[in-house]
Amino acid sequence: MANSSWLSLSDALHAMLSSATPTTKKETLSVTDALGRITASNVFAQHNVPPCNNSAMDGYALRSKDGVSGASLIVTATVLAGDSHNPTVSNGQCVRIMTGAPVPADCDAVVIQENVHRDADTITLQTDVSELDNIRQTGDDIQQDSIILRRGRRLTPADMMLLSSVGITHIDVYPPLTVGLLATGDELTEPGQPLEPGQIYESNRAGVAALLAPLKVNLKHYGIAPDRPEALKRLFNLASEECDIIISSGGVSVGDADFVKPVLDELGSIDFWKIAIKPGKPFAFGQLGNALFCGLPGNPVSAYVTTEQLVVPLLRHSQGESNVSDAHRLTLKARISHRIQRRAGRLDFQRAVFTQEADGSLRVTPLAKQSSGVMTSFTAANCYMLIPADTATLEPGDLVDVQPFSLASVAQI
Ligand code: AMP
Ligand code: MG
Repeated sequence: MANSSWLSLSDALHAMLSSATPTTKKETLSVTDALGRITASNVFAQHNVPPCNNSAMDGYALRSKDGVSGASLIVTATVLAGDSHNPTVSNGQCVRIMTGAPVPADCDAVVIQENVHRDADTITLQTDVSELDNIRQTGDDIQQDSIILRRGRRLTPADMMLLSSVGITHIDVYPPLTVGLLATGDELTEPGQPLEPGQIYESNRAGVAALLAPLKVNLKHYGIAPDRPEALKRLFNLASEECDIIISSGGVSVGDADFVKPVLDELGSIDFWKIAIKPGKPFAFGQLGNALFCGLPGNPVSAYVTTEQLVVPLLRHSQGESNVSDAHRLTLKARISHRIQRRAGRLDFQRAVFTQEADGSLRVTPLAKQSSGVMTSFTAANCYMLIPADTATLEPGDLVDVQPFSLASVAQI
């Protein structure tokens, strides 16, 4: 079982979110530049959408009292989308109307052209027509002065369309956070450089930067720090002056070359946690000058999982996004394909493949290699399969939670 000094994932996240103060500054951006940014105030509609009753289809506008199958009506005018005239329509008359064209004030229904027979200027209805058929009413979608987007929302592609549909060109958003990123480790070589004996390529920063990309932060790179206290001190001090949040990887456990802990103890107030998740146990969090500090474990899979589960929600909350919580990922139930026996104690994020059966149910198979250094099982997986901390055995057919991987996970969140 986990030692009682271990923190659960949700307690760790809660502690992190409560030590972050969301920004209150605002900046105004053009809507076209605001994708992925967070609204800094409620957004109100200055117009109704649609602004007037208009036709949802190509057809004929008429009075619904005349809308009886078999009735013949005289076509007296045509209204196209963009027209502003309002022809008078009397009993027994109708007007030709196109999709998006304003419905004449005398008419209260539109019949689609497929449901009439036309002969010269006369149509014969082949169906009954009811009041409001095929009419998009004023304010049907958006009422003037209503709130269309609330403060604290991350703007999506659909929001861009919504804002444009009420004529809004500029929007108040929170300014971007500056996030500093570095890796630590004497063994690390920058990809692209020759690999000397004893070295491995540094890979954590590439994954972390990609996970942060949808968050639209200003990312500042501080390179690879050697395992030397003076070098770490200099970089951490510099980053804490230039950044709102610093993300470093490696050196947070208790090896002989793990100098991050003594250096941070000297420079700031950082807690070193053992989080009851697998992979990803050691994690450092605290304050360094005016910046928040997140120290990821060095193992690539652990660095990735802790970034996703802890750092991304922290950044979202710090950016001013509302309702960020540990329930930010879509979670589905799937039946596990085979037996699992393990030591209970930590919430396990297993890399797995889920598929949908013919009856619509989901089936999940964890990949064979689950070590926290193995990235290939990450790229082969399409979900996490979650094993709760207190579960030691799963039998084939047991229901487990899966969290699908998705490029859209930030938008979902
Ligand atoms: P550490 O947490 O520094 O003890 O590192 C744990 C393991 O992760 C060691 O095998 C490191 O070589 C490896 N590692 C640490 N940082 C990185 C990195 N940025 N990229 C790839 N592997 C790393
Ligand atoms: Mg190290």
